[in-house]
Amino acid sequence: PPKTAAEPGVTPVMAQFLEAKAKATDAILFFRMGDFYELFFDDAVQASAALGLALTKRGKHLGEDIPMAGVPVHAMEGYLARLIRQGFRVAVCEQMEDPSEAKKRGSKAVVRRDIVRVVTPGTLTEDALLDARGANRLAAVAIRKGRAAVAVVELSAGAVDVVACALKDLGATLAAFRPSEVLVPDRLFSDPEAKAALDGSGGVVQALPQAQAEPVGARARVERLYGVAVLDGFGAFEEAEVSALGLIAAYLETTQAGRIPVLSPPRRSGEAGFLAIDPATRLSLEIDRTQRGEREGSLLSVIDRTVTAAGARALGERIARPRRDPVQINHGLDAVEWLLERRDLRRDLRSSLRACPDLARAASRLALGRGGPRDLAAIRAGLSTAQTLSALFASTTREPIAGPPERIGSCLDQLALDPALGHLLGDLVDGLVEELPHLVRDGGYVRPGHRPELDAARTLRDDSRKVVAELEARAISQSGVAFKVRHNAVLGYFLEASAKAAEPLFRAGPDSPFIHRQTLANQVRFTTVELSELDAKISQAGHRALALEAETFEAWRRAVESLALKLQTLAEALAELDANAALAEWAEEVGAVRPVVDSSLGFMVEAGRHPVVEAAVKAAGDPYTPNPCRLDGSGVGCARLAIVTGPNMAGKSTFLRQNALLVILAQAGAFVPAASMRLGVVDRLFSRVGAGDDLARGRSTFMTEMVETAAILTQATERSFVVLDEIGRGTATYDGLAIAWAVAEALHDVNRTRTLFATHYHELARLEDRLDHVCNLSMRAREWNGDLVFLHEAAPGAADRSYGVQVARLAGVPPPVVARAKSVLARLEGEKAAHGRLDDLPLFAVAEPAAPPPLSALDVALSELDPDALSPREALEALYRLKQIA
Ligand code: ADP
Repeated sequence: PPKTAAEPGVTPVMAQFLEAKAKATDAILFFRMGDFYELFFDDAVQASAALGLALTKRGKHLGEDIPMAGVPVHAMEGYLARLIRQGFRVAVCEQMEDPSEAKKRGSKAVVRRDIVRVVTPGTLTEDALLDARGANRLAAVAIRKGRAAVAVVELSAGAVDVVACALKDLGATLAAFRPSEVLVPDRLFSDPEAKAALDGSGGVVQALPQAQAEPVGARARVERLYGVAVLDGFGAFEEAEVSALGLIAAYLETTQAGRIPVLSPPRRSGEAGFLAIDPATRLSLEIDRTQRGEREGSLLSVIDRTVTAAGARALGERIARPRRDPVQINHGLDAVEWLLERRDLRRDLRSSLRACPDLARAASRLALGRGGPRDLAAIRAGLSTAQTLSALFASTTREPIAGPPERIGSCLDQLALDPALGHLLGDLVDGLVEELPHLVRDGGYVRPGHRPELDAARTLRDDSRKVVAELEARAISQSGVAFKVRHNAVLGYFLEASAKAAEPLFRAGPDSPFIHRQTLANQVRFTTVELSELDAKISQAGHRALALEAETFEAWRRAVESLALKLQTLAEALAELDANAALAEWAEEVGAVRPVVDSSLGFMVEAGRHPVVEAAVKAAGDPYTPNPCRLDGSGVGCARLAIVTGPNMAGKSTFLRQNALLVILAQAGAFVPAASMRLGVVDRLFSRVGAGDDLARGRSTFMTEMVETAAILTQATERSFVVLDEIGRGTATYDGLAIAWAVAEALHDVNRTRTLFATHYHELARLEDRLDHVCNLSMRAREWNGDLVFLHEAAPGAADRSYGVQVARLAGVPPPVVARAKSVLARLEGEKAAHGRLDDLPLFAVAEPAAPPPLSALDVALSELDPDALSPREALEALYRLKQIA
């Protein structure tokens, strides 16, 4: 039905709903009605399906039933989380005044309501809606004058980043932030490069009108967001950067309904500061998520030893965006090394941090007016952790030699609370109780003794019995009547006596303090001026206590809001300490070493290990075989490109990924699992290992592989690092070999990139003789008593054979097929030997394969068995039967 507020016959509340709904057409509207959020029309239908809510009806609109669903206010967060996860946006429409105020305007007046917020994946701030150990980011993309920019805000921590980059780096830049929501000007949808970058970002894409990205308006909006006269105070921004920031500002204006969050000035990090890792490489290396999208099993999950959620986020950020500048990288390594060498300090640091709650998120919620008493407690605990740590470091870093390294030092500077923060801490310690209620409106969070008026109000409320008893005693002695003080909803407090006992009072003169209120069958009720005053006081006292508490809360909240930037910086320092200590902890645990990172073009790893596979292999009780890897982009001393051959399952992909992960760890400023590593810093890292079909985009394996290969060939420089696995396997043998050959040649001659190139085409081993800087490596395997044993050892030289048939047997391919494969292989190898060259191999001429050997009785019996359909007992019987046939 057409729904407009102006239709005749629409109830005032419904008109209000329709008006709000018109402002939030793309969201589900949570419409506050008392203790419920109610949903109407399509919103109710959609949400009831998504949340399993009962769908009911409420009244009629234009002659038809209005579908309705509702969620209780106290359970709202859970429902919100589920809706957001299912891709909905939710607009929250609150009551903006107390219903009693509306009543004052007239008995039919409707409570004022307004949308206070639109909840979207990128703008969440509630703990219940956030992953504690992962950052939640809103990104915006803009392109202007051939340059791209990505602006990113982490609303829950008040952090803003902006990166300008070349168009071709947009995908890598955006993916590095793993945004949960990406804003784009609608026109960018038709730009294929932008489209590809958006697809790879993993975030929900939200199109905004192109006009919001126009630089002039965008600039004004960003200035408004920050409350500054000119944006230039924060730096000289490129047009694309301003546009992207402008989109963020516009979106925050609408989704936060005008409530301006406290944000740090935009951190500008040119893409040159970071190691570029495109989305496909991230996926292939499973840096912070596995290919199935889980955190468990990723590089990050295996090395993460942080003790706070904020520390985990800082570590995640460090691993997701490794640096490119050797100086900065070494600062990170200095910090880890320093903490690695100080075990006791590290232990104490970590145990203090364990008690530290999520300071940044609490501060941001309070600043946005969404915080509660528990967030204040988080601020108190965070500030006091800072104090503890300050003292801890002061007592241990008075060292004769140099003080702590720069990155630790600058954290320590933040830990020293300035007077304003010190005052806030003192106030919270003094005033905030330990056991806290969840909601401000429940009261009970301000400590007795903190505010005398509050204490008085509470005393009145709580001690009412005592005060009333005193008054009763006084009334009795004054009147000589056996009064009892009672209370009911109509009269409030009153004095009650039997009709007989009260008789003298009716004969008292006009000066008597006892005022008659009510006569019942046997009782008479009186009040006194003092009692009705007390009655009013007591009932007000409760309200007043709550109001005074709310006032105190608001004062604290304001203090937090005005100190929000400082609190965020402090939170970052605590997180940074946690992340560095965690890396030191992990390094000690697994015996990782400090890599030497410089500006050479070398890559020298001795006894390197794959952190994730090693952990898995060791958990299964097996040893991990460390492997060296030596490449040099300048081709001095060792090759630039290594061709890696070896049977399936020999460990080729593990070896390739291992070396790429070592690059990431080293440039993230982490120690590396190896005996030693020397790394000439890498600008771009590419990994194409074990890519599967990209069915979502309708591309075959081969097509995906070629698209990705093209990206590498156009982007890799001599500073880059490439690991490539089995290029060309998705097509006919000759095609594939030819492509693999040409790609290897190009990487060697044109890109001059350090490359590990794993292949099944043993013919590629011949490149070693043709090109100057190529070497062969093979993952060794040995046949042992007819079995294949994988040594997982990378040895110089090409593999002599691929053992495919043996691997097939290991994998459980039925014996007749394996036997047949063996005979075909023998024939092929015979012909190859006869012809000498592969080029002449009649690979496809084996047109008339020998007839398969006749099936034995056992084969027939076996093929008739369907293990899935057998009960354990039937299986056992089948086994006996087979045994008999054999
Ligand atoms: P390929 O790519 O050659 O088929 P993978 O790299 O997938 O082989 O390795 C197969 C398995 O071998 C791995 O899952 C792991 O369990 C084991 N493996 C690989 N490398 C090593 C190693 N260096 N030490 C111990 N086990 C290894």
